[in-house]
Amino acid sequence: MRCPFCGNIDTQVKDSRPAEDHVSIRRRRFCPACGGRFTTYERVQLRDLVVIKSSGKREDFDRSKLERAIRIAMQKRPIDPERIDQMISGIVRRLESLGETDIPSRTIGDIVMESLARIDTVAYVRFASVYKNFQAADDFDKFVSELRPAGAPEE
Ligand SMILES: [Zn+2]
Repeated sequence: MRCPFCGNIDTQVKDSRPAEDHVSIRRRRFCPACGGRFTTYERVQLRDLVVIKSSGKREDFDRSKLERAIRIAMQKRPIDPERIDQMISGIVRRLESLGETDIPSRTIGDIVMESLARIDTVAYVRFASVYKNFQAADDFDKFVSELRPAGAPEE
């Protein structure tokens, strides 16, 4: 696993244990090159999902993109990171159990908003206000950069 700090490929696993939800294994890793520490999660992927954008373009579903958007919406919110991870797993499980491998990006956005609304109102409002402007969030990178509350006054 490549070190996210310095790019070194040769990182070491220091500790492995099941995460609280028992659907993932949490590994603490250490990078001998820069001393960086980070955590990875290993999970079962039930099926390969494809996102259908409003333009009709297809793209492989990427959990890390979803994670990035949610973590930005959750920035500085007093929510346990493990709880956020459980929420993301729950969203992915819901997507996987829709019975379709092709999922409209709008459906993903709606499920994310539902899940955020249940956990944290501020994060929900952040996500929802930006999400609406991008409809089906076709330009995900733009969407994420807009979501980042850079210098925005705290609610
Ligand atoms: Zn490193």
